[in-house]
Amino acid sequence: MDRLRSVLGDDAVVDDPDVLDSHRNDHAKFCTAGMPRALVRPSSTAEVVEVVRAAGELGVPIVTQGARTGLSGAANAIDGCLLLSTTRMTQILEVSAEDQVAVVQPGVVNAQLSRAVLEQGLFYPPDPSSWEQSTIGGNIATNAGGLCCVKYGVTADFVRGLEVVLASGEVVRTGRRSAKGVAGYDLTRLIVGSEGTLGVVTEATLALRPAPEAALTAAATFLSIEDGIAAAAAVMASGLRPSLLEFLDQPTLRAIQDYRDMGLPEDVGSMLLAQSDRGLRAADDVARIAEICTAHGAVDVAEASDAEESRMLLEARRLVNSALEPLGTTLIDDVAVPRSQLVTLLRGIAEIGAKYDVLICCPGHVGDGNMHPTVVFDPADAAAEARALEAFGAVMQLGLRLGGTITGEHGIGTLKARWLETELGPIGLDLHRRIKAAFDPGNLFNPGKVLL
Ligand SMILES: Cc1cc2nc3c(=O)[nH]c(=O)nc-3n(C[C@H](O)[C@H](O)[C@H](O)COP(=O)(O)OP(=O)(O)OC[C@H]3O[C@@H](n4cnc5c(N)ncnc54)[C@H](O)[C@@H]3O)c2cc1C
Repeated sequence: MDRLRSVLGDDAVVDDPDVLDSHRNDHAKFCTAGMPRALVRPSSTAEVVEVVRAAGELGVPIVTQGARTGLSGAANAIDGCLLLSTTRMTQILEVSAEDQVAVVQPGVVNAQLSRAVLEQGLFYPPDPSSWEQSTIGGNIATNAGGLCCVKYGVTADFVRGLEVVLASGEVVRTGRRSAKGVAGYDLTRLIVGSEGTLGVVTEATLALRPAPEAALTAAATFLSIEDGIAAAAAVMASGLRPSLLEFLDQPTLRAIQDYRDMGLPEDVGSMLLAQSDRGLRAADDVARIAEICTAHGAVDVAEASDAEESRMLLEARRLVNSALEPLGTTLIDDVAVPRSQLVTLLRGIAEIGAKYDVLICCPGHVGDGNMHPTVVFDPADAAAEARALEAFGAVMQLGLRLGGTITGEHGIGTLKARWLETELGPIGLDLHRRIKAAFDPGNLFNPGKVLL
């Protein structure tokens, strides 16, 4: 502690038990969290190096934390660890219109970057629903997705290069600033999604795009879940490239309405939210989406009449996690399947809900085949909790059987660590262990996360 204080300054090294207690968890329910020894808030790469060297010499594990909005327990404390918070590394170091890149420190909040680049007519597409809180470092470490990823891709598609502090205290720069480059293994892509287990990201060079044109949003309602899902699959198969295609089932719509009155219909089976951001061509796109939805049984397709109504519809979608929380404890699945399997997935989830007698709400980024079946249960009822856990696992098994993955964007953390081998297989898992050992032989970074 003395060594850290001498390097970082007293106010950047916190051991107040209340503060430590409030930093133990991310947003995932049901994940264990230990008691940290201290919380450090370095401001620069040089300070991160000092923290990593000190912790490495003493064998104190490091858990890097961004905004702790993670949904897999990956940012949870481990007993006796140092929490390394990036909340003081918040500089946007450069926005280059010519190269269409931004260079940022990891604690920059996603929406803050999006707004800053928009001022220069540029666009940083990855937009997790947590974008007003979550950090670029956290987005990179989880390879976050979001609403407009259906058209533009996920975080990994926008990370050109990284600066990373390794367990040895060395600083490595991966990737490059140029649009192309294939020298060596793709270490950038390896770090992306590694959930803080391979190093601390201290700087990122991110690709930008020209700002999109004006967008039009529409909401289609269906009597059943199947109709909504089939319509979404048909929209994607039609060759259209909506900039957003989101699904809400009836229990989710009701939960949002109860949480905040947003004028959503509560007596329908499901709703699709679709958007086109192609300016003058958006009206044609939305008309075609409406035709496809109607052909698949939509009872109503309403276009947002202005930008404010569009914003409200998106806001409703972004509220899902908060809206489901008052219903009970939530276990959020994150399965992604090929879109051709979506109807089978949703039918299977309904069967799982009935079998285990639990409520499973089913919002999702349907255009990506990435659903968030959320098992909701009463935490005071031990039997319900046991059934909820069974249902949570059964949904993952179903996703795998349908050719998908147990996590499309939230990551493994501790929540899904015991299912990882089922997806990777023993050889894949062993290769992961060897990669981890090559980066971090002393298991300094986030031990017990991702790999048990
Ligand atoms: C309301 C809500 C909505 C959400 N919506 C979405 C969504 O639409 N799409 C989506 O993908 N996720 C979503 N999430 C999950 C979460 O917001 C993302 O996983 C996000 O990327 C986490 O960012 P964070 O800054 O909060 O990171 P944290 O939760 O603090 O950390 C997440 C992981 O990143 C590691 N990490 C953080 N910073 C660094 C760094 N600098 N170097 C190395 N490792 C680091 C941590 O160790 C941990 O493993 C949502 C969460 C909430 C609460």
